[in-house]
Amino acid sequence: MSAVYLDWNATAPLHPIAREVLAQWLDRFGNASSRHRFGEAVRSEIEAARHRLAESLGVMPNQVVFTSSGTEGNNTFIKGVAWAERQPGTVVVSAIEHPSVREPAQQLTRLGWRVRTVAVDSQGRIEPTDWAAALAERPRLVSLMLANNETGVVQPVAELAREARQAGAIVHCDAVQGWGKLPIDFAALGVDALTLSGHKIGAPIGVGVLVIDRRIDWAPLLAGGGQEGGRRSGTENGAAIATLGALAPIVAEQQPQWAAHTLALQQALEEGLTSRGATLFSAHAPRLPNTTFFALPERIGENWVLALDREGFAVASGSACSSTHPGPSATLTAMGVPAEVAQSAIRVSTGWATDAAAIAAFLAAIDRLRQPDRLHYRAVTW
Ligand code: PLP
Repeated sequence: MSAVYLDWNATAPLHPIAREVLAQWLDRFGNASSRHRFGEAVRSEIEAARHRLAESLGVMPNQVVFTSSGTEGNNTFIKGVAWAERQPGTVVVSAIEHPSVREPAQQLTRLGWRVRTVAVDSQGRIEPTDWAAALAERPRLVSLMLANNETGVVQPVAELAREARQAGAIVHCDAVQGWGKLPIDFAALGVDALTLSGHKIGAPIGVGVLVIDRRIDWAPLLAGGGQEGGRRSGTENGAAIATLGALAPIVAEQQPQWAAHTLALQQALEEGLTSRGATLFSAHAPRLPNTTFFALPERIGENWVLALDREGFAVASGSACSSTHPGPSATLTAMGVPAEVAQSAIRVSTGWATDAAAIAAFLAAIDRLRQPDRLHYRAVTW
């Protein structure tokens, strides 16, 4: 049975353009630091990719640092700023940040830093009173996500960044889930640094981008051979970087169509879910057009995922990073969702290759799995 992939926020399928570029690279090799023609060829491809990336994000090429992942970008900037500071300070993060922001922020406490976590409201938006209180504490660094990976809630980053910078903070934005789903313009966001990850837009896993304002003082996480202008040592992943360079302009150009396409699917899905009595999380907040986070009773989220997988549908549950961190989602807990509802959470996330038939078939599968004779597990009651 072929499976329907509804887990694009976890990773997107390889884009056809990425496949083409990678196929060409199978017969190529070279270390970009080598001075001979093999190295030179790779180096020029990397620089061409840097220019294309920069243009698509509205920045200068020397602001683009290639990394291995969103996780590396987030760690690099958060730790890099702390290492460059003479005195420990306060770092502000929201209660719904991805673990790749929350954990490095927490690690700064070993250097004497304080972590101030800002609350969110019941819809998953940054809570304004707590935000103002956090800024009044004069943080040195603020890290906020553009869009949440579970609920899809989009934060007003431009406005929040302006306020944080007025309060004297360096502002970082984890925009990993926004790429390809929202327009991404570094200057319009008004942040000092931005993290992106290639595999969320159809590049292979293993490449990311950190965009940094050149005026910011920070220390690299990976020190060594001095690649990426000394900002990220390690032999460059030429094939993956070239793929990203080819994809970046396509993503920027096609983003409005992809958003319109997934929005129509999201509306159909959410109408279907509402009529089936599902609880939709963050239904009243601005959200990504491709993400629906909801709960249905009868099964806990993990069991929904397994049952749906047997029916041929790949979705995610609400538990943080599923298999590695069982328990209710930290995002839903921060939103005040009762644990008994949060434990039944399911995330559907779509992309350019998802079609309306997949959504209809998914709703039909939900109906089948709710038949009393299919409930092998003790019903979860709220
Ligand atoms: N930030 C957010 C919001 C994410 O959703 C993810 C991955 O799911 C990451 C960061 C980490 O990105 P990567 O998987 O490239 O390390």
